[in-house]
Amino acid sequence: TRAWHLVTHPKGTPTPADFDLREIPLAEPAEGQIAVRNLHLSVDPYMRGRMTGRKTYVEPFALDKPMTGGAVGEVVASRAEGFAAGDLVLHDLGWREHAVLDATYAVKADAGDVPLSAYLGALGMPGLTAYAGLLEVASFKEGDAVFVSGAAGAVGSQVGQIARLKGASRVIGSAGSDEKVRRLVEEYGFDAAFNYKNGPVAEQLAKAAPDGIDVYFDNVGGEHLEAAIGALRLHGRVTICGAISQYNATEPAPGPRNLGLMIQNRLRLQGMIVMDHAHLRPQFFEEVGGWIRSGALKRDETVVHGIENTADAFLGMLRGENTGKMIVSLTD
Ligand code: NDP
Repeated sequence: TRAWHLVTHPKGTPTPADFDLREIPLAEPAEGQIAVRNLHLSVDPYMRGRMTGRKTYVEPFALDKPMTGGAVGEVVASRAEGFAAGDLVLHDLGWREHAVLDATYAVKADAGDVPLSAYLGALGMPGLTAYAGLLEVASFKEGDAVFVSGAAGAVGSQVGQIARLKGASRVIGSAGSDEKVRRLVEEYGFDAAFNYKNGPVAEQLAKAAPDGIDVYFDNVGGEHLEAAIGALRLHGRVTICGAISQYNATEPAPGPRNLGLMIQNRLRLQGMIVMDHAHLRPQFFEEVGGWIRSGALKRDETVVHGIENTADAFLGMLRGENTGKMIVSLTD
């Protein structure tokens, strides 16, 4: 079977030459293991951090070893209790066509009428990040005005919609193309949105949120964070979820210059890692699953087909070629 390998630690923006698709042997499942044919693979921003060779909150990718990441697939052989051929599962041996793994690392993806790939997006890790990051980390409450960056992506598109469904007074989003901005307002029900490439974020945010904001959900960092701190009202709260504008930087980026407003306005900035919020999963499945089934929450995917295009899908995601969740599909 074929699996992607990281062959060099990328400096700055990764290139296709940093990755190689190689043939690897596939073992038979041992006792307690399952064999899975992967149907959809996830490419996520956090994987950029794993490519640096430094340990963060996840293990770095080892050079010349098969890469890992979220995947959903069909069990083709099982020697584990509770799993049978034909079962659909979510697991972490992505970036490859087939996987053999201990069944303890697989979760059944059996919510019925929700498409399987949703387990990599709206009903998966990015969805839980949005749900937990808004409701738990930012202590969102009804009536809050919420601004989210990366708003047309997997996490951001859900932050904005959950805020709307939970009674935000105003939902504002930023994204990197006019088409994405149109989608935020027309499809996801944001009250206002802007393209951050069209002018300074602070100016565009002031127009979109003339009365300021109560919550900022930060997926981007840098200029966006500084602008948001400037727009936050008394007792404003910020979830520091990601800083994708800096992931390919080769020098540390200068911080927001207006941190003094943190004191003046008693702001709270809190970082998050989605895995600390696993206790929310049952509630998340029930509430967000219900919204997906009823159509109250829109779920976009940009799908790239074929295992050989996985690295390009990852690079495209970093460039913003996705709306909603970037998925690599191995089905026809
Ligand atoms: P997305 O689906 O949002 O894809 C990434 C998007 O980032 C691109 O589509 C692009 O959209 C945008 N982007 C790329 N470069 C820049 C830039 N220089 N400035 C602004 N935007 C940029 O990814 P996810 O929803 O999966 O992740 C969103 C964020 O959440 C990331 O920062 C990620 O690291 C973080 N995250 C954190 C977790 C946690 O536990 N803390 C868990 C999951 C995700 P555009 O066209 O708008 O530029």
